[in-house]
Amino acid sequence: MNFKIIINEVFERVEALPQKGELATYIPQLAQVNSSKFGVHLSTIHGLNYGIGDYNDRFSIQSISKVLSLSLAYKLVGESIWQRLGVEPSGTAFNSLVQLEADKGIPRNPFINAGAIVVADILLSTLKNPRKDFLEFIHTMSPHSNVNYSKKVAESEKKIGFRNTALCNLIKSFGNIENKPNKVLDFYFDICSLETNCKELSDLFLFFANEGCTNIDQNRILTKSQTKRMNALMQTCGFYDESGEFAFKVGLPGKSGVGGGIVALHPGKYSIAVWSPKLNAKGNSYKGIKFLEEFTSKTEMSIF
Ligand code: GLU
Repeated sequence: MNFKIIINEVFERVEALPQKGELATYIPQLAQVNSSKFGVHLSTIHGLNYGIGDYNDRFSIQSISKVLSLSLAYKLVGESIWQRLGVEPSGTAFNSLVQLEADKGIPRNPFINAGAIVVADILLSTLKNPRKDFLEFIHTMSPHSNVNYSKKVAESEKKIGFRNTALCNLIKSFGNIENKPNKVLDFYFDICSLETNCKELSDLFLFFANEGCTNIDQNRILTKSQTKRMNALMQTCGFYDESGEFAFKVGLPGKSGVGGGIVALHPGKYSIAVWSPKLNAKGNSYKGIKFLEEFTSKTEMSIF
């Protein structure tokens, strides 16, 4: 399989497509991103690393961070975490409030905002220095990465975070938030503000393709069983209410964020990160999805 040739071909074709979609302007800081950016990076478990375009540029990973925060909470709390979070695709927008009332404050899954807010609460209750400990956990997945919080993005989101505030308060009213809502929200916004580039992102997610161990030093991050479950969740819930379509067209577990990043992986083979900031109507990177759809078609390598 010549990944490089396929990536180059698909990149060229998708780059030439008209720029459809919108930036995530509801977060003022994200409205300022250069919308023509486009980068891709692949990391295979056999040691191939290949990037093209703006793969070294840092961007706001937003909801992709929900996979990382859940990984740490799952590692710390174990299976009892599922008493506070569901594992069903929501079929609603990432910031929707509608199901929470009927579900009595148990978010449908950990990758919608409601679920990630509960995960932030769990981390606040469990860790001594939540911000520092979470970052350290990320660095165990990829010791040389420069992933870090962006104060600017977190502050910018905090100013307009009315829906997330509503979600947190509603969940609190059902008793599924232990800490003070403003503390939980501050941490949630910090988690969303993480920045990195496609190269580091595909490297970070490689352990999900490697049965829960880092590739270089075989450091175990999650158990095999936890890793399978995380991949199942990414497959069914990773793309908001476009998760079914992503499974149908791309066929890989993955996660997107409103910063225009997508990371996806093929268990036993590779992880791949794509960044193009303009989003389709469902909040997923327009070119990111186009790229991955063609990439898995050309490589004939989806998990199905
Ligand atoms: N920080 C964003 C929010 O809470 C994350 C959304 C996303 O990337 O899905 O709205």
